[in-house]
Amino acid sequence: MSQGHVHGSGSTHGAGSAGAGPAGTGAGPGEPAELAPGVLQIDTLLGGWDRVTAGYLIQGPNPVLIETGSQSSVPVLLDALGRLGLGANDLAGVVVTHIHLDHAGGVGNVAEAFPRATVYVHEKGARHLVDPSRLVDSASRVYGPLLDSLYGRLDPTPAERVKVLADLEEIDVGGGRALVTVDSPGHAKHHLALHDSSSGILFVGDAVGVRLPDAGVLRPSTPPPDFDLETAVHSLHRFADRRPVGLALAHYGLVPDHESVLDQAEGILRQWAEVAEAAFRAGEDIAEALESRFAGELAAVAPEHREKLETLNGVHSNAAGFRRWLETRDRPLEG
Ligand SMILES: [Zn+2]
Repeated sequence: MSQGHVHGSGSTHGAGSAGAGPAGTGAGPGEPAELAPGVLQIDTLLGGWDRVTAGYLIQGPNPVLIETGSQSSVPVLLDALGRLGLGANDLAGVVVTHIHLDHAGGVGNVAEAFPRATVYVHEKGARHLVDPSRLVDSASRVYGPLLDSLYGRLDPTPAERVKVLADLEEIDVGGGRALVTVDSPGHAKHHLALHDSSSGILFVGDAVGVRLPDAGVLRPSTPPPDFDLETAVHSLHRFADRRPVGLALAHYGLVPDHESVLDQAEGILRQWAEVAEAAFRAGEDIAEALESRFAGELAAVAPEHREKLETLNGVHSNAAGFRRWLETRDRPLEG
C-alpha cells in the first residue's frame, strides 16, 4: 500500500482535533491515527469505548499488524484496515504482545481474513492460538459474563500459520524496517514487546501498565496467573536499555512522558505490591487495601472513564494477581 492511503485518511497529527490527547492521538473516534511515519494506531473500540484498546499497523512492503484486539472488535478492526487500503492479500503478518483475549481474541478471524499473513506469538503462547480451548476456559473463569458480553472468544489458527518468537528476533517489514522482539514477562509469561527499527517506538503491550488517555493515570496491570514483580521490573529495565523514542501502550496509545514513564511504572508497581503484600500478611482483603490506598488517584476522573478502567484493569483482577504471586512465592519457604 502507498503512503497516499495514510495521508488520505485525514488522520495525520491532528493539531486542534477535538479531544486530542498526547501527540499523535488527535484523530476522531475510530479514525486511524498516524503516530509516526508508517505507524498507524487503530482504535479497536472494545465494548464500544474509544481510546481503550489499540492495534497498530506497521507499514512497509510487508505490513504487520500488532495486536488484533478482542474477537468482539474484529469488525471494527477489519473496517479500519480496509480503509487504510489493505486488501485480503496485503497483510504479511499479525503479531500479538501476549495472548490475553483483549489483545489476541481476534487472531483466528484476522488470520482467516488475511490468508497470507503469518501469525507471530511468544513461544510460550503459541499452542493456545492453535488450540484455544484451555485459554478460553480460563478466561471464562476470570472474566465471567464479560467473556461473551464484552470480549468474545478466540478462534483457532492453523498451526502452519503460526511462527513462534524468542527474544531479540526480527519480524521483517521490508524496506529496511523490522520489529525486534523483547521478551518481557511479568504481566504474563508469554509477553513480548516489539521495537520498531524505523520509528524507534517500542510497543509494550501491557508490560508498562494501563494508562487510558481519558483517565490520565498510569496503573499497573497485575492479573493472575503469571504476574511476578521482579520479572516485571526486569522487563521495564530492558525497555529502558533500548532507549525507545516512544512507548505505545495497548491501553492506550503513546505515553506523553516516555523518558520518565518506565521509572514511574517501576515505582507504581512496587508501591502497589507493597500495599498488596501488607494486606496479605495481615490477612486483609487485598482488593480493599488497594482500593482504599489508590482510589483517590481517580477522584478527578469522570465516572464513565473510571468505569472503562475498572472493567479493563480493576483492582480485583490486580489483587487476584498479587495474591497468586505472593502465594506462589511463599510456597518454597513454607515447605
Ligand atoms: Zn490488555
